[in-house]
Amino acid sequence: MLLNLIRRLFGRLWTRKPYPLRTVLADKIPDDIDPGSIYLLGTTGRPWAAAFACPCGCRELIELNLLPEGNPSWRAAVHKDGTASLHPSVWRTIGCQSHFWILRGRIVRVGDLTDD
Ligand SMILES: [Zn+2]
Repeated sequence: MLLNLIRRLFGRLWTRKPYPLRTVLADKIPDDIDPGSIYLLGTTGRPWAAAFACPCGCRELIELNLLPEGNPSWRAAVHKDGTASLHPSVWRTIGCQSHFWILRGRIVRVGDLTDD
């Protein structure tokens, strides 16, 4: 299946990515986002949103609410090495339907590539 093949190729690309996402603290999402960065919007101690390009390659902008009052909401942690983690996982219900974790700036895909 072509779709399966595409998924496999993306899966390989993702796992090969050698560098973690760069954590960028910003007031707002830049017009031209860097696909190698994850943007945390707001103050250092309490960002209210995270934004990044979808790592599958579709490059759709993903924006996640980090305020606990919101629903759904995610928690972002910035580690001593400057990388960021998000909890829980990100599952796009539109577009490419990617499902992944961001752990210490690295994309970890959820699910087995062989099931379709
Ligand atoms: Zn995508």
